[in-house]
Amino acid sequence: MIDGTVKQPLLSATTRCNFASGVRPAPAVLCKRRWPGSWHVALTAPGLLVTRRSGRKHLLSAGPRATELEEERRYCIEEVDGKGLGVIAKLSLEAGDLVFAETPQLTFETDSSQSMQKVKEEFQRMPSAVKEEIMSLEDAWSSRGRKTLRGIIETNGIECETTGRSCNTKAVCLNLSRLNHSCNANCDYSWNERDQQMEIYAQTAISEGEELCISYIDIREPRQVRQQMLQDNWQFRCSCSKCSMRLHSASDKRRLRMGELSALLYSSRSSARKLRIAKKLLKLYKEEDFAMKSYKLEACQFGYDSALELGDIDTAPRFARLGLRCSLICHGRNHDTTKEWMDAVQAWGS
Ligand SMILES: [Zn+2]
Repeated sequence: MIDGTVKQPLLSATTRCNFASGVRPAPAVLCKRRWPGSWHVALTAPGLLVTRRSGRKHLLSAGPRATELEEERRYCIEEVDGKGLGVIAKLSLEAGDLVFAETPQLTFETDSSQSMQKVKEEFQRMPSAVKEEIMSLEDAWSSRGRKTLRGIIETNGIECETTGRSCNTKAVCLNLSRLNHSCNANCDYSWNERDQQMEIYAQTAISEGEELCISYIDIREPRQVRQQMLQDNWQFRCSCSKCSMRLHSASDKRRLRMGELSALLYSSRSSARKLRIAKKLLKLYKEEDFAMKSYKLEACQFGYDSALELGDIDTAPRFARLGLRCSLICHGRNHDTTKEWMDAVQAWGS
């Protein structure tokens, strides 16, 4: 029973800011989750440039936009030792570079009572080339090599976070689904509500030939917990550099503390305490050398809010500047969250 295996809350990733002067925004942190609920499918217009296993490129119908062609040169999909297919950088990338943007092939509402039958009906109406591509994706729950549409959706569905609103929509994207997991991922994804696209951004400098990875789970957990979450939900053991370290007790201790402090950010009512916690978290993320900036962004949101509440005019602009840097790397320049951080920085005259 697949639904029964999905238990863990995953990555707290994107924070919303609302910097109307004199109004302290209530932080609303949205979560990235790759597991499903119930189903409603909407077929998105095809037009995606797809790289097949053979390396040939297929134009499904409408044709790629110029930006998609440009992005195609930044990565390729090929076999990775011990992992099946993966995504490899074809160019060196800088933190904040858009690796690619992709229109989902399937989107569905996780809070809908629509049955799996509805999903199947929608799927059956898709062009055969798209169906074939979807069915070529990984199904962690296949039995004796027999994949199911449900298994593929459950393995590859990613939440479409919408800034400032809880999100019940998930998407299956062909290329994003090929990104493997790492407990110190060098890429992250961001939902572009305006263009209805999933965007993948480099989180750190990446060399040509390096594998591009995202994180499937909240990585602020000790190694054993991370391995269990990945095994329970995706049926694999992680062999990333963090999981392969011979000595990992210091890392485990830091990550355990991160999880505890992050929970305290949400439960604490004291602004002074939240400010202290946000600073501690930033220090721990730095010590653990987290590439992903979404965690820092979350801490910045709380730190900024708390500094405003306390009237700490030295600290607030520092959090605003760091929040902007992180948001640019997580979401790019045109995302609402980034624009709000820009407004905050501008408001402080820095
Ligand atoms: Zn790992």
